[in-house]
Amino acid sequence: MELNSVEVVGGGPAGLYVATVLKRQMPAARVRVVEQNGPDATFGFGVVFSDQALGFLATDDPETHDLITPQMERWQNMTLVHRGATVTLDGIGFAAIGRLELLQFLQARARDVSVELCYNTRADHVDAFDADLVIGADGLNSIVRGSDPAAFGETLGAFDNRFAWFGTTQPFDTLTQTFIETPHGPMNAHHYRYSSEMSTFIVEAAAETFAGYGFADMDEASSAEVCAGLFADALGGAPLLTNRSIWRQFPRLWCSRWVSGHKVLIGDAAHTAHFSIGSGTRLAMEDAIALARSIGEHDNLADALSAFEVSRIPVAEKIVKAANTSAEWYDKFANKMGLAPFDFAFDYIMRSGRLDMDRLRKLSPGFVGAYEAHLAGDVA
Ligand SMILES: Cc1cc2nc3c(=O)[nH]c(=O)nc-3n(C[C@H](O)[C@H](O)[C@H](O)COP(=O)(O)OP(=O)(O)OC[C@H]3O[C@@H](n4cnc5c(N)ncnc54)[C@H](O)[C@@H]3O)c2cc1C
Repeated sequence: MELNSVEVVGGGPAGLYVATVLKRQMPAARVRVVEQNGPDATFGFGVVFSDQALGFLATDDPETHDLITPQMERWQNMTLVHRGATVTLDGIGFAAIGRLELLQFLQARARDVSVELCYNTRADHVDAFDADLVIGADGLNSIVRGSDPAAFGETLGAFDNRFAWFGTTQPFDTLTQTFIETPHGPMNAHHYRYSSEMSTFIVEAAAETFAGYGFADMDEASSAEVCAGLFADALGGAPLLTNRSIWRQFPRLWCSRWVSGHKVLIGDAAHTAHFSIGSGTRLAMEDAIALARSIGEHDNLADALSAFEVSRIPVAEKIVKAANTSAEWYDKFANKMGLAPFDFAFDYIMRSGRLDMDRLRKLSPGFVGAYEAHLAGDVA
């Protein structure tokens, strides 16, 4: 099917990417992205993609995959630091890129195919758009979803822990999970380099620890200074940098339906996935591919949107459930801090409930060997 006009609300990864794939598929259509911020504005620092997450791109859009992967930092193993001991989790590969670099890459791709990009333009009245299709790629606080929350079957909550997204110039060797005890309770940092000069450093704490430090009453710079002191060993003394690094609780959003009339939700507007499994951006881009495919395969819009929902929602739901299970593990990690490093690492790696020992042995033979030696009493 060919559409005449598509209006995309939101110029994050979901909006830029869906506009590009649709315009590539329907060169005669007018495809416009409306983004409330400027092209250089973004929050946070880098994002990771798991190896599996990049696999989908290699299959579905090899051209984009081949252009983006040389810009990414990659590593094969993860590292977990607990009670000062380092455990290697081999075979858990990730690739990382700055969020701004990713957006600029996607902007350039969109411009190449003549998508209209309207920055510094906030959409306020979705129903006023005169377009065949309106795509809500406008993230967690989506106004497209907000225009009809009941139709989209929205369930919105939040996980318990508080987190803040910092950056640092310390280049870490791998994606690393550092767990520490502090006088106010345990804390976690999730850190990895996303360029040769910059790393993401997300700090997470239970509500009691967060309250104990009084982070709610601190500005960004003070929070960064306190956290840099607490994680000085991991940071090698480097400071933490801020970019809208406010303390938040990670949202838990799921929509049971993604279509209402000619409006459709994709990405964080429809679902959120905790950052610990590195899948939010991947889900957003996969949604875009699935939507474009459905439109290409059907002769009328209603059938295309309905096929999109039927094919895509169950697939996304599996990943969102895995992300929720992972987030729930983080909400409870304080109770596990008494475990020895290898037992803690084992608990961590099994947290999704989707791995058994055979699969783990194939995935992380080095870790399983060391863990079994620990169980046999050979390693602390
Ligand atoms: C701390 C943290 C770490 C993360 N780490 C990772 C990671 O490592 N890997 C990963 O894959 N994912 C990660 N994510 C998740 C990832 O950021 C999101 O899943 C992803 O950005 C979703 O893309 P999106 O385009 O759907 O939404 P967004 O990126 O939120 O983009 C939505 C866009 O819509 C715009 N917008 C909103 N309302 C309007 C309006 N009314 N008019 C015009 N424009 C509007 C916004 O300005 C924004 O640019 C992380 C998230 C957090 C919070």
